[in-house]
Amino acid sequence: MLYTSTRNNQIRVTASRAIAQGISEEGGLFVPCEVPSFSLEKIASMVAMPYTERAKTVLRAYLTDFTEEELTACVEGAYGHQKFTSEKIAPTVNVEGNENILELWHGPTCAFKDMALQLLPHLMTVSARKNADGKTIVILVATSGDTGKAALEGFKDVDKTKILVFYPVDGVSPMQKLQMTTQEGENVAVCAIKGNFDDAQSAVKAIFTDAAIKERLAEKNMLFSSANSINWGRLVPQIVYYFSAYCDLLEQGSITLGDPINVVVPTGNFGNILACYYAKRMGLPVKTMVCASNANNILTDFLTTGDYDKNRAFYTTTSPSMDILISSNLERLLYHCGGEDSAMIDELMQSLSQDGRYTVSEKLLSAIQKDFAAGCCSEEDVFATIRQQFKDDRYLIDTHTAVAVKTYFDYVKRTGDDLPTVIDATASPYKFSKSVLSALGEDVTALSEFDMVDALSRATDTEPPAPLKALQDKAVRHREVCDRESMSEMVFRLLNI
Ligand SMILES: *Cc1c(COP(=O)(O)O)cnc(C)c1O
Repeated sequence: MLYTSTRNNQIRVTASRAIAQGISEEGGLFVPCEVPSFSLEKIASMVAMPYTERAKTVLRAYLTDFTEEELTACVEGAYGHQKFTSEKIAPTVNVEGNENILELWHGPTCAFKDMALQLLPHLMTVSARKNADGKTIVILVATSGDTGKAALEGFKDVDKTKILVFYPVDGVSPMQKLQMTTQEGENVAVCAIKGNFDDAQSAVKAIFTDAAIKERLAEKNMLFSSANSINWGRLVPQIVYYFSAYCDLLEQGSITLGDPINVVVPTGNFGNILACYYAKRMGLPVKTMVCASNANNILTDFLTTGDYDKNRAFYTTTSPSMDILISSNLERLLYHCGGEDSAMIDELMQSLSQDGRYTVSEKLLSAIQKDFAAGCCSEEDVFATIRQQFKDDRYLIDTHTAVAVKTYFDYVKRTGDDLPTVIDATASPYKFSKSVLSALGEDVTALSEFDMVDALSRATDTEPPAPLKALQDKAVRHREVCDRESMSEMVFRLLNI
């Protein structure tokens, strides 16, 4: 299986090359030339497998230049050794009727990014061995909160790698910030950016494609790569849990083999929901993917009208990991649904960077709308949904998951389509204790971040995840702050080159 670029469909690279490189030379994203297909029998055979084997079954189809031994080592390194607090890794919980929640937050940083970022460093080291002949890989990350910590945890002290994380100074929750500023490890650096996530992400992208900077790294035997969801090695692990959730529903008797389901995803950069699109293309019986947005509802507008326009107000919400106006992975969907026309994608993306907007053709829009629906959720509704879900079903959700649950309720009401549904839960409620407590009507004034964790535990009779409790005793080790303009200087300084 080979990969090409969304902006130059003549390119052909192996999976390991795509992962080691992160982004294509001309700025496009790597996509598989052909999507592999799984029969229903093959899906049925995955039901009896543990998560690690389900993962290998999917990865094998995409990472064809990895040996069986390499795949086993990668998957065990990521999901073995009790790094996840659930034996099932990503359990599917029936909350009520056809509402099933796929809990993707049982990893070491308590957000769904762990699902991919525990595996990526292993995929990356194997890929570097095959492609980068002994070079040190420098991982550059722009984060809206959860990616940064998950990448730091995944790459910490991994041989032949260094990791630099940039986060928007006022765009992450106190707990997310503490998770990053206390990060341990010899090969890690963390820096705050004066700006929002899109500023950080655009600056990181510019550094990646700057020839002079790349040359300076090459002189030091270093090579950039990306752990953002533009890296194919981030996406492919996410395809796994959609198959896994379907298997769980089969196992629980909620569906029979071949029954269609719907999937609702709280969306920011469009990575998570795009992984579901690949699963569907592979043959997983998914009818509709519902894209759920918070007040930054650019994707709701795009999926409804075909007009992508980032010239609009930016809101800092209680679901910060979804406060995004440039959803990078949408480019991959446009490529696949638009007849793999890389010249057209190149035009759209130029228009996005010059005018901040683009409009897709009627034909492309209707191709997308065959598979996708969309909805968004106000801040008031986030709070009301957390409260209602807990009151009705004693099931506690975080702010991001609440966006998806509310969008699901609205979708069912609007369309009458009440198929068995999988809703992604992307963070532990304890990562956003303040909002969740307030939603439940508890008084949070004068409580410290860790008092809030205890208060939430008492109010709901649930256990906080151990990794969050442990932060309390850790020292802050990273205090750097810089402007967007001086990010490349900061990169050199942090790398000592
Ligand atoms: C990253 C993140 C999202 C958004 O996922 P995308 O793949 O960027 O769409 C949603 N919720 C949480 C908690 C996240 O960390």
